[in-house]
Amino acid sequence: MSTSFGIGAARRWVYEKFKSINGQIGQDRLLPSYLQFTQPICGMNQHRNIMAILPGTGPQYQEVVLVEAHMDSRCKDVCDVLCLAEGMEDNASGTALVLELARVMSPFAYNRSIVFMVTIGEEQGLAGATAFANYCFSEGVQLKAVLNNDIVGGIICGETASPPGCPGLNEIDSINVRVYSDGVFNSKHKQLARFSKLEYQELLEAVMPVKPVVNIMTPEDRTGRGGDHIPFRQKGFASIRYTSANEHGNGDPTGTPDYHDRQHTMEDVLGVDTNSDGELDSFFVDFNYLSRNTVLNGNALAMAALGPVPPINFAVEPVNNGVAISFEDPDNHGEYRVGIRKYWDNDWELVNTIFTTADTIYGLIPGEEYAVSVACVDDLGTESLFSREYAVSFATGTREVRVSEQGLTLLQNHPNPFDEATVIAVKVDRALRYKEAYIAVYNIEGKELARMPIELKEGLNEVIYDFQNHQYIPGTYAYSLVLDGRVVDTKQMIYAY
Ligand SMILES: [Zn+2]
Repeated sequence: MSTSFGIGAARRWVYEKFKSINGQIGQDRLLPSYLQFTQPICGMNQHRNIMAILPGTGPQYQEVVLVEAHMDSRCKDVCDVLCLAEGMEDNASGTALVLELARVMSPFAYNRSIVFMVTIGEEQGLAGATAFANYCFSEGVQLKAVLNNDIVGGIICGETASPPGCPGLNEIDSINVRVYSDGVFNSKHKQLARFSKLEYQELLEAVMPVKPVVNIMTPEDRTGRGGDHIPFRQKGFASIRYTSANEHGNGDPTGTPDYHDRQHTMEDVLGVDTNSDGELDSFFVDFNYLSRNTVLNGNALAMAALGPVPPINFAVEPVNNGVAISFEDPDNHGEYRVGIRKYWDNDWELVNTIFTTADTIYGLIPGEEYAVSVACVDDLGTESLFSREYAVSFATGTREVRVSEQGLTLLQNHPNPFDEATVIAVKVDRALRYKEAYIAVYNIEGKELARMPIELKEGLNEVIYDFQNHQYIPGTYAYSLVLDGRVVDTKQMIYAY
């Protein structure tokens, strides 16, 4: 049993790290443990995530907020267990963030319970996160927020980074951070992203010497790639992913030209020794940037763990140039926040404070469309998570609930396999309102090869993709239907000649 090499050694090291935190703070409140699960991954069947639970001390102690990161890393071949994949950017950076938050947060008491988790098997299909999401779902765990951190320390743009993260090769960005989450309208994931950003802007931005810029991204993840937040979303838990603005992407995409990026290769190391004095002096993981991302996460996590219970039975109606809102607050806090955003914006345009559970907010633009939600505020000024959203359309004078993926089916391409061109079709059962829809084509490494706009009318809508013209190599490819920035569905297709 190695103490310095391989996933087992890393797992034991993380467990010991969680244990030692208790020693440092002289309390035994942080409870380290494993989540064991059975799944065949590269010839191994038994796997364990490592976690530490900080039990809540308030009335909502049975509710849970989670911060997590995967610690496994990989080389080009996902099952190459012998190559030394240090995975410093992807994802020792996230692992360090989780461990540091366990250290700095565990001396304090929170209403809800906090779970600090380090997962494994992310690179082989989000296995560790799926195991915990399934566990929470089947055991009825009241998981209220999931903050996934994956690639949160790199600031250098590589060749395979997904747009819009990197403006150009080797560009540096240590200010912006991207927050990815599923859904466009009335998405609990986007609501969690907005909450995290709001707590940063209202509590931290003024006091941080270097001020991060938090970008709420429209899609669930970078083009053609995914992460540990997705299995939680699939089980209905609010989940978001933090990622660097600039990253050194997938270094070994099969079938594409000679990229030299570091992720998923043995080159994903901490830094280099440029003057050969035996010490690293130029770093690929920027410690200041990583520490700022850690502060952003800790703040959002703490506020989600501390806050009161959100309002219930929220309703909203348009009136002249405003919205009349009403809701119930079983705990009678007497102070509330109202988040209002333009329907097509990811960010709130305004977050007002009100002092009654029935009020009207004026000053909105007639003709514009808005999405509205509310939160409770406790005696200490801590917001709850925000309620569901309602859309308000002044154009029709009615309340509408809009774009949904129901009645939208991405069909298998035909013919398949194909030797030249193939037809991709989307079946639409009822009229949709949307801004932009396209079919994206990816290679097996997730690199986007093409985008074809598609019009989504009621009935069958088709686009043709010609492979022969592009001289792609034979093999498996994927295509997705993307609606207003959201991947609705993805299917595989086989190019053979
Ligand atoms: Zn990763």
